[in-house]
Amino acid sequence: MKNIRNFCIIAHIDHGKSTLADRLLEFTKTVSDREMQQQLLDSMDLERERGITIKSHAIQMNYTHNGEEYVLNLIDTPGHVDFSYEVSRSIAACEGALLIVDASQGIEAQTISNLYLAIEHDLEIIPVMNKIDLPHANPEVVADEIVDLISCDHEDIIPASGKTGAGVDKILEAIVNRIPAPKGDPDGPLQALIFDSVYNSFRGVEVYFRIMNGSIKKGDRVKFVNTGKEYGADEIGALKLKQEPRKEVKTGDVGYLISGIKEAKEVKVGDTITHKERPCETAIAGFEDVKPMVFAGIYPVDTQEFEELRASMEKLQLNDASLVWEPETSAALGFGFRCGFLGMLHLEIIQERLEREFNMTVITTAPSVQYHAYMNDGEKVIVNAPSDMPDPGKLDRIEEPFIKANIITKADYVGPVIGLCIEKRGTMMNQTYLTTDRVELVFEMPLSEVVFDFFDKLKTISKGYASFDYELIGFRSSKLVKLDILLNADSVDAFSAIVHRDHAYDRGKKICEKLREVIDRQQFEIPIQAAIGTKVIARETIKALRKNVIAKCYGGDISRKRKLLEKQKKGKKRMRQLGNVEVTQEAFMAVLSVD
Ligand code: GDP
Ligand code: MG
Repeated sequence: MKNIRNFCIIAHIDHGKSTLADRLLEFTKTVSDREMQQQLLDSMDLERERGITIKSHAIQMNYTHNGEEYVLNLIDTPGHVDFSYEVSRSIAACEGALLIVDASQGIEAQTISNLYLAIEHDLEIIPVMNKIDLPHANPEVVADEIVDLISCDHEDIIPASGKTGAGVDKILEAIVNRIPAPKGDPDGPLQALIFDSVYNSFRGVEVYFRIMNGSIKKGDRVKFVNTGKEYGADEIGALKLKQEPRKEVKTGDVGYLISGIKEAKEVKVGDTITHKERPCETAIAGFEDVKPMVFAGIYPVDTQEFEELRASMEKLQLNDASLVWEPETSAALGFGFRCGFLGMLHLEIIQERLEREFNMTVITTAPSVQYHAYMNDGEKVIVNAPSDMPDPGKLDRIEEPFIKANIITKADYVGPVIGLCIEKRGTMMNQTYLTTDRVELVFEMPLSEVVFDFFDKLKTISKGYASFDYELIGFRSSKLVKLDILLNADSVDAFSAIVHRDHAYDRGKKICEKLREVIDRQQFEIPIQAAIGTKVIARETIKALRKNVIAKCYGGDISRKRKLLEKQKKGKKRMRQLGNVEVTQEAFMAVLSVD
């Protein structure tokens, strides 16, 4: 136990976490040159393409220092706010963290939010200034920022480069010398923290754990404390580049467990593993059932494919425990699913996986957060879709999720950034100058306002010099109304949105304008209206196509054949027929893509 070190790497996106992890694996010969692929830890195709780590992984290295052999467990953390609960569990499995800061960028929002998590868990922080090879690096200024942030000495900061390999030896020495060995009682009852799980269609769910007390042997009967389920430890082992089966994994170490679990949702990150006989007295603190934050409808483009979509969703859920869904019927779109996601990235991932892995073409309706409606009679109604919104006459109040947003930007852009946040119903809580040129802003704002394109806007107004991260702080009462959109005098439920009362007129007008742009002209005139209850607050009209054009394109049987041909030619387009109006995916997002 005294020669084990468990650590994670915390960094803002693109500051070089994956590259540096690769260097550590090379230096410790955990991977041979032949096996070395760039950014080994990012294994899913999607992750590689997007250059981000979606799921966390762990890998064990052996390292000899001053004649002593050490086991170093690197527990990787996902780098996106959608997965912040997993980050917190990975951090809870470690005694130390490498804090990587890009020498040309300095501290960014995600550096800080992850650092706070690490400090909360009493991790030893090793500051690393990465990318010192860059000609435009600013090592002195960035070092001062780091010293201010974590109140360390200048000498504590390790200059490094994931590109040249500079400093990698120093980082490994620091891991051994500065991070404490794990504590815990080797003879006590088993208490192991599940910090991750990975679905494997052949072997069942692989559970990754860190042992706090006791030990686990192959064949043991184990129990997951929070779910109450019992399993046999069919296979346990160490997480090297490949899994290496072992007879026993002991206190302080990290390992994997396989026991034929078939569904990802049976295993909850943050749960505690113990023995059936001689269980531990308490579960490890900090367990939470992760809840979806963003909800959207997913519908097949072709209504015939509903059952196929259901089968695909079921398969996706087998390996993604955080995806939740239930069947939903829309007057406009027919049969589909109301799905809950951890955030917008998660939603995009699911949509992409449906298309790539299952060859489905789907329409996604505008995402919405969850609202809590309190009725006059005291009843609480959960609103996951605008159509769930109760009759306003019976409503006492409605609450929406709020976040604490952390934004770091250049002094030049403070004005516009504050302006944007206020426009998004934010309240400024704090403003701190990190240096004369870089400012940290803290805002409280509704989650619904940042879910969609807030970050894009922030980047535009700050010319790229802004970073953003957030955490949820709870539900608060807001003046919200349901905004309905009528196409050809029919209310289209899939276009409804829940908006703040003061923004309703403006939003309604802009949504109508946007829909007029994105819906193609047809043989007839199409009125588009926005309404609150029965009151129409905005109207636009899509003019009819001129006659001669219609004559060429349409006409009974031919048009149907033509459509079929086009469909075969182009593959399926994300388009749906609403009444007699054809509407593209873009239109379903119109509610969100207006300012
Ligand atoms: P992550 O998002 O923190 O995992 O960052 P990556 O490891 O994916 O690195 C982001 C980008 O920075 C990639 O294009 C890397 O090639 C580059 N990079 C990483 N480390 C260094 C470094 O030390 N020097 C230079 N010049 N580039 C680096
Ligand atoms: Mg990465």
